[in-house]
Amino acid sequence: MKKKELNKRLKVKGTKIEVEIRKVIRSFQMKYYCNYSKLEGKPDIVIPKKKVAIFVNGCFWHHHLSSYCKIARIPRKNHEYWETKFTNNRKRDFRNYTKITKKGWKVVIMWECEINSRKNTLGLYVMDKLYHLISDESDKNVYD
Ligand SMILES: [Zn+2]
Repeated sequence: MKKKELNKRLKVKGTKIEVEIRKVIRSFQMKYYCNYSKLEGKPDIVIPKKKVAIFVNGCFWHHHLSSYCKIARIPRKNHEYWETKFTNNRKRDFRNYTKITKKGWKVVIMWECEINSRKNTLGLYVMDKLYHLISDESDKNVYD
């Protein structure tokens, strides 16, 4: 395994997913920031007005635990090393998400495999993930 393959986070900047996320946020006329270092784990994109923090996670490094994910595997070589590493990564991610949530923010995770499988419907995928969090309806009380 080469070092290059071990990017901690997908390179989001300038990618199709970033473009789609920004498009959706802009359609709601909201401001966003990229690589927001004021929150734990430095979310890739945040929407301050709605307190939404978006992480675009690479499945290998963040070890996506999902039955349909084909990227998050544990290499056979140095198996134990990787297993420990991934467990620690997942724990760290979870700690970060918990801290952010405790500050009143909502965490949205977009996984590499989900993004890859939606090449032509990426906009819909992003809308689906964000609509309920950033539309006006999200301000209303559910009991109204
Ligand atoms: Zn995945």
